[in-house]
Amino acid sequence: MQLQDSLGRPLRDLRISITDRCNFRCTYCMPRENFGPEHDFLAKEEILSYEEMASVVASLLPLGLAKVRITGGEPLLRRDLPVLIAMLRDLDSELDIALTTNAVLLERHAEALLKSGLNRITVSLDAVETDLFQAITDSKNTPEEIFKGIEKAQQIGLPVKVNCVIKKGVNDSQIVPLTQACIERNITVRFIEFMDVGTTNNWNLDSVMSGDEMRGVLRDHFGPLEPKKSAHPSDVARLWHLPDGSKVGFIESVSKPFCGDCSRARLSAHGSIYTCLFSEKGFDLRGVLRFGAEKEEIATIIREIWTHRENRYSELRTQLKEKRQPVEMSFIGG
Ligand code: SF4
Repeated sequence: MQLQDSLGRPLRDLRISITDRCNFRCTYCMPRENFGPEHDFLAKEEILSYEEMASVVASLLPLGLAKVRITGGEPLLRRDLPVLIAMLRDLDSELDIALTTNAVLLERHAEALLKSGLNRITVSLDAVETDLFQAITDSKNTPEEIFKGIEKAQQIGLPVKVNCVIKKGVNDSQIVPLTQACIERNITVRFIEFMDVGTTNNWNLDSVMSGDEMRGVLRDHFGPLEPKKSAHPSDVARLWHLPDGSKVGFIESVSKPFCGDCSRARLSAHGSIYTCLFSEKGFDLRGVLRFGAEKEEIATIIREIWTHRENRYSELRTQLKEKRQPVEMSFIGG
């Protein structure tokens, strides 16, 4: 029977953060001043094994789980990721398995990921201008390296989308050139409003460029945009068509919250379930997993958590007065 939370929302999507480490230090997610050499990343024994992650997924399939998104940190940093994907594929031939990556290592791993049963990839890319790209990612890598990984994936038949977080006054200059670069490669780019995730990205409303403003920039350059109906109500991106028929998406958590259809749970690398991107605490599963809990027992625990879920932070954001300590996005995979 389909599991529903206190607002009638199913648990349809599970995001699994398989590592809290990353090879970038993106300023809006993992700023180096907070995630430097002294930062306490999870120790090996604290991190769930692939078998433990697969048993959580196995327990959720009978409750209506349809999609798994593998994230991080940067998931391609964790060894043998195709082993996990193959385990999940064995659990359910219809399961929609997606990966979110910064694609620095994608060219090397794309074939093994496809062979193991991965359905599709979302690449985070916030600039096509090298200096700006390196400033945002605080790395020495280049957009060309990212596009090489994207092209490799496309070549072997792995569908790719691009996500771009727009921070006003930082990379809004990239909206048009990134859209052009994606149109040339027949990729859908989704622009994300800068969000107050975690506690380290110095978020403020003035740095948010709304979806309406972004569409204005595109309209001025490409001409009128047409809204397109979403494939599924819980899809976070709202799609629009450019005059040439290309699709562009917008994830507008700040200006047009979408909590009403939010069917996403998150599993951190250290084995806690979070019921919202802006949660302040998670529910530990690692303890029961390491006590050898059967999938029915895990399902009972998650059912108890989910049926009491009432999160809708983005809808309440402007009304909340008390200081919050939400979990870091890099810890639960966005
Ligand atoms: S704010 Fe929380 S409840 Fe709302 S859409 Fe995001 S994750 Fe879902």
